[in-house]
Amino acid sequence: MKIQTILFAIVFSNAIYSQQHSHSSTQALSFPDVPGYKTLKTDFHQHTVFSDGYVWPNIRIMEALRDNLDAISLTEHLEYQPHSKDIPHPDRNRAHELAIQEAKSHDLIVIPGSEITRGAPIGHSNAIFITDANDLLQDEAEEAFSTAKSQNAFVFWNHPAWHPQNPNGNPNLSDFQKARIQNGELHGIEVINDGDYAEESLALALEENLTIMGTSDIHGLIDWHFKEKGHSRPITLVFAKERTQNSIREALFAGRTVAVFDDLMVGRKENLLPLLNACIQVKEAKYIGKTSILRVTVENVSSTDLLFENLMPYNFYSNPAVFTVPAKGTKTLQIKTLKQLDGIELKLSAIRTYTAPKEHAVLSRNLIVED
Ligand code: ZN
Repeated sequence: MKIQTILFAIVFSNAIYSQQHSHSSTQALSFPDVPGYKTLKTDFHQHTVFSDGYVWPNIRIMEALRDNLDAISLTEHLEYQPHSKDIPHPDRNRAHELAIQEAKSHDLIVIPGSEITRGAPIGHSNAIFITDANDLLQDEAEEAFSTAKSQNAFVFWNHPAWHPQNPNGNPNLSDFQKARIQNGELHGIEVINDGDYAEESLALALEENLTIMGTSDIHGLIDWHFKEKGHSRPITLVFAKERTQNSIREALFAGRTVAVFDDLMVGRKENLLPLLNACIQVKEAKYIGKTSILRVTVENVSSTDLLFENLMPYNFYSNPAVFTVPAKGTKTLQIKTLKQLDGIELKLSAIRTYTAPKEHAVLSRNLIVED
C-alpha cells in the first residue's frame, strides 16, 4: 500500500511536471508590439547533433523558452552529417520531430526547416515551412530549391558574406542566386549571422527586395556562445498579424522583419521606425522652474539598450549629444531651448539602427510642454 502510494505520487508529480514546467529566465528578450502587428521574436537558423551541432533538439527548445522566443526552426544541414556514424538517421525530419515533442507542453512555435548546403558560389540557404526535408536532399542544388518552392517554403540565403566562402568578406550575388530570385525560390537574406553584420548583405536585401534576417546559427550552447560573452542571441523580429505559423509565414514573405543583435537593429525603414517608436515612450516634458531648460524623460520598454544622438537645434544641459536609454529603463534629457516654448520636436538619431548601409532610423516626436 505504502509503495503504491509512493509510486502514485511519483507518477502524478511527473505528469504535473511535464505539463507545467517552465524554462523562463531573467534575461528574457522583450520587444513591444507595433500598430497592427504582434512583434514575434524568432531564430530560424540552429543546429543540433542531427547535423553538425553539439546538443540534442530538446535543448534548443529550452534555450528558446529561456530567451522568451516565440518561434524557432532547427535547420540541419541536409548534406553535411558529421555525426551520422554515431547517430544514424535516414529521416531528415527527425530533429524537428524531437523538437516538437519537447515544445508541445510549451507556448513555442517550431517551424520545420533544413539547410541546403553547397560550396561557393551557391553557398548555404535555409528552407523553412517545408513539408518533408527528405525530398530536399537532391544532387543538384537547383532541384533542392525547386522542391522547396513546391513545398511552399520560405527560403533565405545564409551568411552570404562568410569569409570561408567569400575571402573578401563581401557577398557575391552569383548567377545561381539571380536565377533563384527570378524563379521566386529565394526570398530572404541573413544580414546578421552569429553576430556578424554585413552592410553589403543589407544593400543586397534592399536591391533585390529580399527579407532581412538575423539568426544565431548556433551549434554549441546559446549561453556559452553568446550570454557568457555579454551578448544576447541574434534574432529576427517578425511583425505578424497573429502569433501563428501562418501569420509568421505571411509576414516573412511580405518582408516585415527587423534583425537584432544586442543593441544593433537592422531593417527596412517601414519596419524599424514603428518598432523604435513603440520602444520609446515619453514620460515627462516640463521646464525646470522659470528656466528655459526643458526636462524630457523617455522610457525604453524593450530589453535592449538604445543609443541615440541629438539631432535637435538645441543642446543638452550637462549631457553629451550621444546617450543611451537603458533597456527597461528611463533617461532624463535637459534640453536648452533658450526660451520657454509650448512644444518642441524631439528628434533623435538611433545610431545603432540601420535602415540602409550607413543610414540610421530617426525618432521624431512632437512634444507638448506640460505646465
Ligand atoms: Zn547553418
